[in-house]
Amino acid sequence: MNRVLLSSPTMHGEEQQFIREAFDTNWIAPLGANVDGFENEMAEYVGVSSAAACVSGTSALHLAVKLAGVKRGDVVFCSDMTFAATVNPVVYEGGVPVYIDSERETWNMCPKALEKAFEKYPECKCVVLVHLYGTPAKLDEIKAICDAHGAVLIEDAAESLSATYKGAQTGTFGKYNAISFNGNKIITTSGGGMLLSDDDEAIKKARFWSTQSRDPAPWYQHSEVGYNYRMSNIVAGIGRGQLLHLEEHKAMKKAIYNKYKEELSGLPLSMNPYLEYTDPNFWLSCLLLDKNCCISPMEIMDKLNTEANAEARPIWKPMHMQPLYAENDFIFVEDSPVNEEIFAYGLCLPSDIKMTKEEQERIIDIIHNCFKGN
Ligand SMILES: *Cc1c(COP(=O)(O)O)cnc(C)c1O
Repeated sequence: MNRVLLSSPTMHGEEQQFIREAFDTNWIAPLGANVDGFENEMAEYVGVSSAAACVSGTSALHLAVKLAGVKRGDVVFCSDMTFAATVNPVVYEGGVPVYIDSERETWNMCPKALEKAFEKYPECKCVVLVHLYGTPAKLDEIKAICDAHGAVLIEDAAESLSATYKGAQTGTFGKYNAISFNGNKIITTSGGGMLLSDDDEAIKKARFWSTQSRDPAPWYQHSEVGYNYRMSNIVAGIGRGQLLHLEEHKAMKKAIYNKYKEELSGLPLSMNPYLEYTDPNFWLSCLLLDKNCCISPMEIMDKLNTEANAEARPIWKPMHMQPLYAENDFIFVEDSPVNEEIFAYGLCLPSDIKMTKEEQERIIDIIHNCFKGN
């Protein structure tokens, strides 16, 4: 049986043409036509005025945190249920993440918990918001709260590229936003990321920092700390080829989600939810078992692995439960944290767009079998 992966790269061929062009013009080294092209094409696609291509989504987030002016000791409100890459860049700058619980409608940052956090830390000037698994968060509510408190919003749209909220793409709502082209994302450059903003000057500054902060002088002169964060021209070529297929990948992800939703209905579980006025990219399909359910997500994960050779994974372990962040504050508004429940009862299902109909049906059958006789 072929292995079915959670989410893996899907290449189409145009990628190689862009790379070939880079070879033919000997533009192998950093920067060049593909980097400029990829930045312009991505900025236009998402709907921002400027973009800076980086070596990773994490480095793009780091530049966003720097642009937001986060300094040593500053409190920064962060999504709690996410990958560590959302929040580590805050720590690179000496900021102190305070984690915000999720709501149940999108599994993203809860506006009520965010409001409560501002009551406790009115001095907070930056919020880092993830759109988990490609599902847009409650952007209107969160943006209004940030504006009311004069805080800069950063969107971590690493997982949500092509998802829309009331018709506008995620990655256009925050002041500085990041996307990722890591191998498992909806489109990939093998590794890479991009910083997005409508502030052209900020993007220029980010490009300066990301190429070692070289002052305009005939010799190597530096007045600020710099980084080697720029995407190479080869990698950008892969991205230009992939971007041609983004909408197609999204449609395939959506079909996978809808098939799971339809064929798992009737079981004591639900799928990762979204708001009706949003259009997620359905990067990962996830299930959430009912609380009084007879089985655990890990049992389903093991069965999918052994019986279907298919890869499922636990939900991101919330940041407030991580040993690294045990000392950080965590704000929630319900009787008990929503994220602990989603982590305990949730599971990411195989969502690879190369998965065949038959493979997905086998996976669905095995999930049904998990409930039989229990
Ligand atoms: C993948 C991911 C990142 C980081 O992107 P890289 O390109 O791997 O550095 C950041 N945040 C979230 C939520 C992610 O899933």
